[in-house]
Amino acid sequence: MKSLWDEQDAKRFAGDDLAVRVYTSRLLGADEDLVMHGGGNTSVKGSYRDFFGREVDALFVKGSGWDLKTIEKPGFSPLRLEETRMLANLEALSDLDMAAQLRAFLLDPSAPSPSVEAILHAIMPAKFVDHTHADAVVTLSNNPSGEGIIRSVFPDCVVLPYVMPGFILSKQVFHAIKDAELSETRGIILLHHGVFTYSDDAREAYENMIELVSRAEAYIDENGTTEHGEVFGDVDLLDLARIRKAVSVARGQAQMAVLDRSGDAQAYAGRSDVADIATRGPITPDHVIRTKRVPVVVETKPAMGVPEVQTFVGDYGRYYERNSTEGLQMLDPAPRAAIWRKAGAIAFGSNVKECAMVADIARHTRWAVQTGESLGGWHALPEKELFDIEYWSLEQAKLTKGNGFPKPHQGKVAVVTGAGSGIGRATCDALAEDGAVVVGLDLKPDVAESLASSGLLGIQCDLTDDTAVKAAIEQSVLAYGGIDIIVCNAGIFGAGETIEEMSDETWDQHVRINLTATQRFMTAAIPYLKHGVDPSLLVVGSRNFAAPGPGASAYSVTKAGVTQLARVAAMELAGDGIRVNVVHPDAVFDTELWTDEALEKSARRYGITVDEYKTRNLLKTEITSRDVGRLLSTMASDVFRATTGAQVPIDGGNERVI
Ligand code: ZN
Repeated sequence: MKSLWDEQDAKRFAGDDLAVRVYTSRLLGADEDLVMHGGGNTSVKGSYRDFFGREVDALFVKGSGWDLKTIEKPGFSPLRLEETRMLANLEALSDLDMAAQLRAFLLDPSAPSPSVEAILHAIMPAKFVDHTHADAVVTLSNNPSGEGIIRSVFPDCVVLPYVMPGFILSKQVFHAIKDAELSETRGIILLHHGVFTYSDDAREAYENMIELVSRAEAYIDENGTTEHGEVFGDVDLLDLARIRKAVSVARGQAQMAVLDRSGDAQAYAGRSDVADIATRGPITPDHVIRTKRVPVVVETKPAMGVPEVQTFVGDYGRYYERNSTEGLQMLDPAPRAAIWRKAGAIAFGSNVKECAMVADIARHTRWAVQTGESLGGWHALPEKELFDIEYWSLEQAKLTKGNGFPKPHQGKVAVVTGAGSGIGRATCDALAEDGAVVVGLDLKPDVAESLASSGLLGIQCDLTDDTAVKAAIEQSVLAYGGIDIIVCNAGIFGAGETIEEMSDETWDQHVRINLTATQRFMTAAIPYLKHGVDPSLLVVGSRNFAAPGPGASAYSVTKAGVTQLARVAAMELAGDGIRVNVVHPDAVFDTELWTDEALEKSARRYGITVDEYKTRNLLKTEITSRDVGRLLSTMASDVFRATTGAQVPIDGGNERVI
């Protein structure tokens, strides 16, 4: 492990202890092999000028909700040092009292809640204290002879058996350092947990961490192997959708499923012993709140259902029964990670961020497990210790932070055609606001860039090219694990040609784009939609279907065609629980079809102003793309759970339609 210390960078912070603390914390956070996703914590002792101008001895410790990788000064909670230290003298301290007292000792009431290791940081007799869950060190201790290996590699460290983090760990360290001459030690190794280093010099504390972890890495290089396995062929994406559906059902809500097909993920999933070694437990207990204690191992062909997920749910229930104590409530029993035999790793979550966290932890875990196997056997903590962390109120608080009300489409995957502008784009935004991950298809080359700016996935796709349509759908499933919502919106609008003067080109183009491409898209997407969660297929029709006008036969006929297509689809797909509905918009003028010039021309034709022209409907209201997008998103939600085959106008009220 390389030190990232840079003398030039560090100089900029000289003299400002908190700034230096931010700098070395970020160095630790920059290496995933040291800390991941909010793991680890750091502190610095100094003084805090209070409201009356007095200098108070203070501990600035990482606040919860901050990540070492990106932490800033406000991420360190200033605590009264003396009072925080006194907590370590107590015989016992409940989690609730600890959290309350730490908040009471804050010198700034708006600071984040201090780390659960605040007391431990306070009692360490050094200015800078660094704590990580370094993969290499924990891997050495997650071994049948872990303690022996650790003692031989770290003879100059205090080595402590695993205990529950928080107050109990603080007490353990408090007693251990009373007997040890800390200035003669390089660090403290907590078995199955992590490493502490400390010094009055920020650089020394950091470099000691790097040195200790490098030693563990060197031991692994000499005694074990970190090279693992072979790579397999393509996977059936329908199987991925099936696995995702089974996990969503177990969770009781839609879950995204992100497949990792990297070489090392496939190699791990290909090991004949993977079902054994992957289910012995995590690297460190704090991963349990993100990944559960173990992943589900799914066999190669889930075509006949995914019984492994049901078995996982049953096993989880029994694990809960074995370990639970009074007053607890069982969490959902769904897996957060899967090992898909001979295919790769799958991360589940309610959003992209959750999946990314699970995928990162899974990647580090398979490295540690396989490396541990080569060193004599992967041996994680007993399940009771892991259960206590999974159900520890202080850890659960990390998960519920900022969750608020669940959104109607949280965890769902939506695909929208014609997403480059107008109603299509507005629909993408509405679905995303309601919690879905959205894939938008459009002919426009800039669709990827334009949607990416809102955090959506855009794919350039010519909907009249069957191969391109199939590829775009597969890309969507590969990205998020399945499809729950389809919005067929793409279309063209041509007017001004009577039937008598109709060119073959105008007619054929409308049929090809508005009608045939919609049918082909449905044909390609329906197999995935059948494995969707509360699946919904929506078609954008037009007021012209019920109230046609002269000069737009190609448009009106093809919109009537997709409406009829949707009605048949509603009948064919009801048995699979797929709802199929149509919206008929009219007079949506904030689209690319309508320029200011075209609007003025049309208004003049009727002898009215543009504003009057825009609101020529019973409600005298203007209809926007956003209105249509919100209607479509709502129709995909469970508000419309009992509606299929319906046609809903969104036109401000039209006498001919009514
Ligand atoms: Zn820790």
